[in-house]
Amino acid sequence: MNAQPPGESLATASPLPGTPAGAAPPWHALPPEAVLSRVGSREEGLRAEEADERLSRYGPNVLKREKAEGPLKLLWRQINSPLIWVLIASAVLAIAMGKVTDGLVVAAVVVLNTLIGFVQEYRAGKAIEALSAMVPENATVMRGGHKVSVPASRLVPGDVVHLASGDKVPADMRLLSSRNLQVEEAALTGESVPAQKHVAAVAEDSELGDRASLVFGGTLVTSGTGAAVVVATGGTTELGRISTLLSQATDLQTPLTKALATIGKYITIAILVVSAVLLVVSLMRGYAVSDAVLVAITLAVAAIPEGLPAIVTIALAIGVQRMAARRAVIRKLPAVETLGSTTVICSDKTGTLTRNEMTVQALWTPSGRYAVSGVGYAPRGELRRDGQVVGEPPVDVRELLLAGALCNDAALQGGGDGKWEMTGDPTEGALVVSAEKAGLRVEELRQRHARVDAIPFESEHQFMATLHEAGPERRRIFLKGAPEVVLRRCALGNGVSAEAVLAEVERLAGQGMRVLAVAHREVPASHAGLRVEDVEGGLELLGLQGMIDPPREEAIAAVKACHEAGIVVKMITGDHHATAEAIGAQLGLQPAGSRGVTGAQLAAMDDTRLTEVATTTNVFARVAPEHKLRLVRALQTHQHVVAMTGDGVNDAPALKQANIGVAMGITGTAVSKEAADIVLTDDNFASIAAAVEEGRRVYDNLIKSLAFVLPTNLGLALILMFGVAFFPIQNIDGNLVPLMAMLPTQLLWINLVATVSLALPLAFEAREADIMRRAPRAPDAPVLNRFVLMRTGLVALLMAAGAIGLFLWEYQRELPRVGHAMALAEAQTMAVNTVISFQIFYLLMCRTLIGSLRKVGLFSNRAVFVGVGALVLLQAAFMYLPFMQRVFGTAPLAPGAIALSVLIGAVVLPVVGLEKWLLQRRGYKVVSQVHRDREEPPRPGHRERLPA
Ligand code: ATP
Repeated sequence: MNAQPPGESLATASPLPGTPAGAAPPWHALPPEAVLSRVGSREEGLRAEEADERLSRYGPNVLKREKAEGPLKLLWRQINSPLIWVLIASAVLAIAMGKVTDGLVVAAVVVLNTLIGFVQEYRAGKAIEALSAMVPENATVMRGGHKVSVPASRLVPGDVVHLASGDKVPADMRLLSSRNLQVEEAALTGESVPAQKHVAAVAEDSELGDRASLVFGGTLVTSGTGAAVVVATGGTTELGRISTLLSQATDLQTPLTKALATIGKYITIAILVVSAVLLVVSLMRGYAVSDAVLVAITLAVAAIPEGLPAIVTIALAIGVQRMAARRAVIRKLPAVETLGSTTVICSDKTGTLTRNEMTVQALWTPSGRYAVSGVGYAPRGELRRDGQVVGEPPVDVRELLLAGALCNDAALQGGGDGKWEMTGDPTEGALVVSAEKAGLRVEELRQRHARVDAIPFESEHQFMATLHEAGPERRRIFLKGAPEVVLRRCALGNGVSAEAVLAEVERLAGQGMRVLAVAHREVPASHAGLRVEDVEGGLELLGLQGMIDPPREEAIAAVKACHEAGIVVKMITGDHHATAEAIGAQLGLQPAGSRGVTGAQLAAMDDTRLTEVATTTNVFARVAPEHKLRLVRALQTHQHVVAMTGDGVNDAPALKQANIGVAMGITGTAVSKEAADIVLTDDNFASIAAAVEEGRRVYDNLIKSLAFVLPTNLGLALILMFGVAFFPIQNIDGNLVPLMAMLPTQLLWINLVATVSLALPLAFEAREADIMRRAPRAPDAPVLNRFVLMRTGLVALLMAAGAIGLFLWEYQRELPRVGHAMALAEAQTMAVNTVISFQIFYLLMCRTLIGSLRKVGLFSNRAVFVGVGALVLLQAAFMYLPFMQRVFGTAPLAPGAIALSVLIGAVVLPVVGLEKWLLQRRGYKVVSQVHRDREEPPRPGHRERLPA
């Protein structure tokens, strides 16, 4: 073919991408040869050095992402919250009323809070953004005449890329060959109906959507295969030019953050109303106007939970990171929450629930049954018949094995150090190994029977066919696939009936084996290409190969964990029903002997029947992607929150419809990953269960943070309101001075510095012991649930009583000794100290919702002690540093007074301990959980009826 002489490549080639816009040739109007020569390439692709050289010249094949939310916008979002506006107004008002220090402290705290929130959200955003790099995008490229897989970012103009259904097109390319290639170009043109692509050049002035000889970066191959040469990469691609479309910055909003924002709004409004009431009351009690205003501001400052938004974002970000560490990469943030309320997981079988390490164990030909020994990919083992080792395989067995090995893209490598590796589809790998075990030298045979053409395997069709040279005068077609599919295309005879074959299939599948039927047909040497019509009928059945693929140990454990957690696990597989049922029983999805339901049966059901079957059946076999979509919908009509796995192109609609679409990071197609909410980097079912557990933990920790933060706010508000309503107004040197238990700046100190440094560690809290033993959270469970409200009331009252009591005690005690001003400063410091010691002890209690601290271990979350340690130091500074004393109006306390505040703070331990004990005894559910009495998963011994 018109190979460009090495060395003479880009220098002499005409304008290439990377040259000024508009200078690129009309690739779509040029024949493939002309394109190849102009980009200085050839059908065998570039050599490695050429590719490296071009990479440094043209840069990596990546699109520059435009951020929708730059740092400034993020900063603005921090400031633009009702809470912050109230604070800013308070600061301005305080300064206007002459309380300059108070005003400045409020302002300083606003700045600090905004900065903390900004930094945390920025980091959280970065962490979440970094996740996209964890799902690699690769492309199959010809380099130096060999097919290799390279990161899509390393593609250069001139690279020859092979495309298959499910791939994401990695760059703009001109097609060199294609077979039924269809590409969905919605990313570029907005058109979601796939476009047919072909090699023939099209008119130069055709529109983007009509350039059928080009495929564009960022679009998705929905079916067929093809090879194409790269003509533009990175920013010079069509998608790169309209990169504004791609400004997909990470959205940090989730239903939960939105719900909390709404709650925040209502709390703020309520507080403003109460502040106004307080203003009136204090004026009525004879406060000076400036004092009354100060009190109202103080209340706003005290009661608004300023730290909450930062806490929520951080809890989500930590959840995302922990899920990634447990091999579930979140693509859409709301999934973190939804995972916690998952009630059904529908999983693929092969590779997810099973190991995807196929080993052929049984052969069947019309002349008899054979057993194959040995496991794994090592081609060591032997063929037996009726227990006797068969030295040389009989001709029919040889033919069966030969066909299996030729109609096959897998390759076996290694063996030198006893380690064998398989590249390609494990099902096909098993067929290579079985042939090798029987003494066939597959590589040699593949050379002798060169392949002329192939129809690749696709899940929908369940077969693969190849055309091979078979001598001077003839060629042979081999077909392998699901037995029903292959049998339908065979002309049976010689005493072999379809019933007998199917009975054999049932027998093998009943042992959990995947069974493949293999057939062949001879054609004349003039038969040049393979079409679907060529394998429609008239083939001769060679036999069956049965292979095991054992369940993953960790999947068995994870299924059990899910069941304990009230989550139903359903297996949805393309495999034979008997295989699926046997594996389903091994995994504990259904009792041994139970029947599953097949795709064909589903197809025959109306929606009512389907919803019934969807909830009562746990094993679905021979399922096509469209059945998956119906199943998800059926389950959702029963208010199920459905997680559904998928790897193929056609799984995308089901993945989108599911509450949690789960794609496979290793074997999944780019199309399925795009559609998914989470991607498993190890394709393992156990990782879904782990993600569910993390999802529940995130929610628990948010509830813990709320239960921790809110009582302080209410407690502070109570302290203040009590003071205004009941504290005496004193006549100090002729001025009427109201007694206040805390200054606004002191309240802010507690509300921001103390609360945030203590609440953040809760986001790191380990999971509760029973987290996977409770039913899933009801999706509509309110965040401010009864538990949080009850707890808030209880602790707030306790805190307020303690602080007010000690404030009065200290004030009365010191008044005669040091006079009003000093006594007040000491008493206020005492009140602050008491609240903070309440918080520290209460934090320990918040580490579990209603469980006992002893169970989680006092020291199991080190972050808590870092937070407490930091706060103790800050608090010492607050009391003893002269600068802090000036700003916050504090005074040093005597050791005895401190001890007393700590002692009173510790009261929260027995009180909340008792509350927890009572709740536990009543079997109280902190988070409302789903109830599903009607749909219990089948119990052992209970046989499912097969739907009519
Ligand atoms: P699951 O949905 O549980 O992951 P699966 O995706 O492995 O199952 P498919 O790959 O769709 O299921 O396979 C369906 C059927 O097609 C298999 O039962 C088998 O009979 C047949 N089959 C699988 N792989 C091949 C192949 N490479 N060539 C020919 N037939 C195959």
